[in-house]
Amino acid sequence: MAYQIRKAAVLGSGVMGSGIAAHLANIGIPVVLLDIVPRELSKKEQAKGLTLEDKVVRNRLATGSIQKLLKQKPAPLTAKKNLQLITPGNLEDDLEKLQDVDWIIEVIVENLDVKKSLYEKIDKVRKEGTIVSSNTSGISINAMVEGRSEDFGKHFLGTHFFNPPRYLKLLEIIPAKTTAPEVLEFMSTFGEDQLGKGVVLAKDTPNFIANRIGTYGLLVTLREMMARGYSIGEVDSVTGPLIGRPKSATFRTLDVVGLDTFMHVAKNVYDQTSGEEQKVFDAPAFMKKMVENGWLGAKSGQGFFLKK
Ligand code: NAD
Repeated sequence: MAYQIRKAAVLGSGVMGSGIAAHLANIGIPVVLLDIVPRELSKKEQAKGLTLEDKVVRNRLATGSIQKLLKQKPAPLTAKKNLQLITPGNLEDDLEKLQDVDWIIEVIVENLDVKKSLYEKIDKVRKEGTIVSSNTSGISINAMVEGRSEDFGKHFLGTHFFNPPRYLKLLEIIPAKTTAPEVLEFMSTFGEDQLGKGVVLAKDTPNFIANRIGTYGLLVTLREMMARGYSIGEVDSVTGPLIGRPKSATFRTLDVVGLDTFMHVAKNVYDQTSGEEQKVFDAPAFMKKMVENGWLGAKSGQGFFLKK
C-alpha cells in the first residue's frame, strides 16, 4: 500500500496538540483538531443562558485553542490564513470526522488507560490503512496497542514531537512490535521530508531516549538545587542564555512543558524502575504541591514564573 498524508486529525488541543496542528497547517496539511467537551459552563456562558449541550459551548475547548494559536508570540502559525486549514471539533461526538483522514495523532493527557480507551473508540471508526500514532512522552507503545485490531496494530506507532513543535527539530519515532515495516519507513521519510524534522528511531523503553535522559537531568538538577540552596534564578542563568541556550534548560523549560505533564513523565520511569535508579525519578514534594495548586506552568498562567 502506498501511503500519503493528505489530511490529518490531531486529538487533544492542549500545549502539544495545538502546536502540532499548527505545524501541519503551516506545511499545507488540513487538520481536524478535536478535544473533550467542557464539563462546566463559564460565568459568561451561564449569564447568556447557554447549556452544556449548546454547540458553541461544546466546541469551546478546541475553538479556544485555535484562537490562542493566533495570539501566541511568536505565532505558531506562519500565516494567518493557515488557520483556515484547522477545523476544530469535539472528541466525544465528532469521531466520524476521522473517517477521511490519513493520519490520526493522539495528543491527550499522559495516561495509559485514558489513551487506551480513546484508541478503542478510534478502532471502531477509522478506515483501514489509516495511520495512528501517539505523541506520548514515554508510555509503552506496545502497551497502548494491546487489544486493538490487526489493522490498527500494523498502522500504530509513537511519533514523539518536542515542545514547541514548530521550532524543535527532533522527532522520535517508536515502532510497536505490531507496526508494519512499510508504515515505519513511510512515517520516518514523511517526518524528515515533509515535517522537516530530524527523525531518531527509538526502542519502546520507558520514556524512550530523549525524555529518559532529559527527565533524569531535570530531576538531578532539582535535587542539587535543594541540597545546595541554589536559587531558581541562578539555576536558570547557568542552564540558559549564558551558555548558549535560548531560554533556560530548567525552570522555564518545566513551565513550557507543563508541571502536570512532567510529573506524569517522571512517574512513568519511576513505576518501571527500582532501587537506586528509581530514587532519581521520584519528583520532589514541592512540585506535587504546585500541581495540586494548579500552578501548571505557562498553560495555567503560573508555574515557577508568572506568565507575562
Ligand atoms: P495538555 O495538558 O496541554 O493537553 C492535554 C489535552 O488532552 C487537554 O486539552 C485535554 O482536554 C485533552 N484530553 C482529551 N481527552 C481527555 C481525557 N479523557 N482526559 C483528560 N484530558 C483529555 O498536555 P500536553 O502537554 O499537550 O501533552 C499531551 C501529550 O503530549 C501527552 O502524552 C504528553 O506526554 C505529550 N508531550 C508533551 C510535551 C510537553 O512539553 N508538554 C512534549 C512532548 C510530548
